[in-house]
Amino acid sequence: MKYELERQQREEDLRERTEHLSTLIETTPECIKTVAPDGTLLQMNPAGLDMVEAGSASDVIDENVYDLIAPDHRDRFREFNERICQDEERTLEFDIIGLEGTRRHMETHAAPLHKSDGTTVHVALTRDITEQVEREEQLEETVTQLQQSNDRLKQFAYAASHDLQEPLRMVSSYLQLLENQYKDDLDEDAQEYIDFAVNGADRMRAMVDDLLAFSRVEQADGEFESVECDALLERVMNDIQVQIEEANAEITVQSLPTVVSDRSQLEQLFSNLVSNAIKYRGDDPPEIDIRVEERANYWEFSVVDNGIGIDPDKTDRIFEVFKRLHHEDEYPGTGIGLSLCQKIVENHGGEIWVDSEPGEGSTFFVTLPKRTAES
Ligand code: ADP
Repeated sequence: MKYELERQQREEDLRERTEHLSTLIETTPECIKTVAPDGTLLQMNPAGLDMVEAGSASDVIDENVYDLIAPDHRDRFREFNERICQDEERTLEFDIIGLEGTRRHMETHAAPLHKSDGTTVHVALTRDITEQVEREEQLEETVTQLQQSNDRLKQFAYAASHDLQEPLRMVSSYLQLLENQYKDDLDEDAQEYIDFAVNGADRMRAMVDDLLAFSRVEQADGEFESVECDALLERVMNDIQVQIEEANAEITVQSLPTVVSDRSQLEQLFSNLVSNAIKYRGDDPPEIDIRVEERANYWEFSVVDNGIGIDPDKTDRIFEVFKRLHHEDEYPGTGIGLSLCQKIVENHGGEIWVDSEPGEGSTFFVTLPKRTAES
């Protein structure tokens, strides 16, 4: 009696499980099929029948599944079918052509099923990934187009700034010639107009030179090597010695690490930050601190000054090309220094930002990822 009850319970469990499985097979949006080693389609669920555009199961069951595979993928699929039955392969992507002629991209996961009669068939769960593949292809195409247009823009900026230098040089030199040779014949107004024009041309030349420097950094491949920042900072100080002395600036540099970086770009980065710290000084002589903190994966450098500071609402804008918060008469410059710094830091996979309040000085932070010379 007890065994009879247990048997009934087992049968009931089995019935429930079978029903559960067949409901899943009937309702899943994925194709589930069984294929014989010779390619005969033994079973296919409703989702699969939809994918192959079969009106009813009899359109495809007991027919050869290879007929549904796109001709250019048929050999691959046949080989795959043989290899699954030997349990040598499990997944494949291939195209099918439905009975109404629609081509779809499929991804299949298959497994061998050893039957009680000694034969082996393959059961497979197949997904229609046509839309996913199309989206990926579109994305890839867009990325390629963007890269090309970006490269063209970089080349354009480089060519424009390079080629503009020469005509600009001509404008400045002929204006100067005019000024020198006809000085005595010109009245005060004419003299003033020439001065304005010379100033304008000089300023434009400075901008074009800076744009060219920016383009060079943008196009640089980045020759990374181990750079001792202590020695690099010493060189930077030497280069701007005159500026330091004129401003009576006091600069303290903490002991700095060796970082794998592009030496000339790093030099430019620190030179711009220190020069700015001197240029945008307040009434007191500049006091500048160059510090570094070691974090898990990167170095965090900071250049701290006691200068005029920056309105926090405007701190993002100063990293844009040619964006300045001051007029040329107040503080000379073209507004490219910080965009150049940002580009350099980007090239190194780091970040740059500023923390500042008007009248309270500024701290520029730069992070540089730690890396080995090979990475
Ligand atoms: P430039 O100095 O030629 O104007 P930058 O790109 O180096 O160009 O700087 C952009 C603007 O950011 C400057 O015009 C200035 O207003 C502000 N700035 C940069 N560095 C500092 C600093 N250390 N303190 C205060 N303001 C600064």
